[in-house]
Amino acid sequence: MPADSPVAPEDRTDGELQPQEPESAVETARQQLQRAAGYLDIDPNVVERLKHPTTVQEVTVPIERDDGTVEVFTGYRAQHDSVRGPYKGGLRYQPEVTRDECVGLSMWMTWKCAVMDLPFGGAKGGIAVDPKALSESERERLTRRFAEELRHIIGPTRDIPAPDMGTDPQTMAWLMDAYSMQQGETVPGVVTGKPPVVGGSEGREAAPGRSVAIITREVIDYYARDLAETTVAVQGYGSVGANAARLLDDWGATVVAVSDVNGAIYDPDGLDPRSIPSHDEEPEGVGRQDAPETLTNDELLELDVDVLVPAAIGNVLTEANAPDVAADIIIEGANGPITTAADEIFAERSIPVIPDILANAGGVTVSYFEWLQDINRRAWSLERVNDELETEMLAAWRDVRDAYEARDVTWRDATYIVALARVAEAHDARGLWP
Ligand code: GLU
Repeated sequence: MPADSPVAPEDRTDGELQPQEPESAVETARQQLQRAAGYLDIDPNVVERLKHPTTVQEVTVPIERDDGTVEVFTGYRAQHDSVRGPYKGGLRYQPEVTRDECVGLSMWMTWKCAVMDLPFGGAKGGIAVDPKALSESERERLTRRFAEELRHIIGPTRDIPAPDMGTDPQTMAWLMDAYSMQQGETVPGVVTGKPPVVGGSEGREAAPGRSVAIITREVIDYYARDLAETTVAVQGYGSVGANAARLLDDWGATVVAVSDVNGAIYDPDGLDPRSIPSHDEEPEGVGRQDAPETLTNDELLELDVDVLVPAAIGNVLTEANAPDVAADIIIEGANGPITTAADEIFAERSIPVIPDILANAGGVTVSYFEWLQDINRRAWSLERVNDELETEMLAAWRDVRDAYEARDVTWRDATYIVALARVAEAHDARGLWP
């Protein structure tokens, strides 16, 4: 899952060489909001309000390690906006998790749910912890304690967590169990991304990668290209990257390079993505596959391909490497893989960038289907999930395409315009209380 850290560009201040901090998610998110607001006739008070989360819960999560010692971690849940429905968004377990990162990511969830026209607002949370450094039972204790600390602010009509980096369906099953035990009844709708046996949805795990593939297919068609003549490089081979690569390969594209944290494999004639284990199937298994060439992650990002899918972590395309990107089109698989400065470079270079809040929104869309199934106590077939996902993705794609064609803007701006207009309209209709 995690890929190489971006190289922090260096900056000269007061005659000294200072390493520049990578741009924080909240800074990027605020700049994107401000830009989109500039295209719309929105009450500036609503925009100001949307720059800030409704609330951020910071909690202490102590656990007993297997050796009997106690270790204390810090967890967060940022709830950005709920004007369109309950807060919704993932929980990540990663050493780099901070309050600000959660706030930025919670803002993206508000737009992601709005662009998909889902009846949800935006939230994000996590714990600053390296989940690989914990045993399974330590992870379980951590999750159960975190659930207890968040119990008063989550719930199926309040805030519904889901998996994100470093968490998985098992994490969601523990969370759902801990919450249900405290409530005295089974509440499957408190989280999504659970295993299907406890109310999870078929197709949920593959959904973000599936939506990346669907949007890639539509973009290729929009630019009057042929998927059968399209080469693709995928950075990150977790559930998003692997599922996107496999579907695009099924639909005729040629996946020439994929990578994990250790580096990339490359075959100009095309790899077989189904034979390459994803991070979940075999962690760090990409480099163990036979391929004519190996590359570094940085080299993969600069390959001359038709489509580049950064699907690992945030801030991998920066002002340092954006001038050297040779792909014709970029589809964001990860959340926030491109810094604001890099985005401007791509706009100047006329490289279309399809943003995360549209491309990987299949995850939260199938989370919505899961929530509906939980409320109705009725499971859908995989076929129904995939059909309805296709319908929702095409509807969102059409809305974004119409906004793109109506104005002289980037794809990111067009996507934000669709999302922000919906959120602002809902704020307008509801007004300020009291
Ligand atoms: N963590 C995922 C995302 O970033 C999914 C969130 C959800 O399903 O609520 O979109």
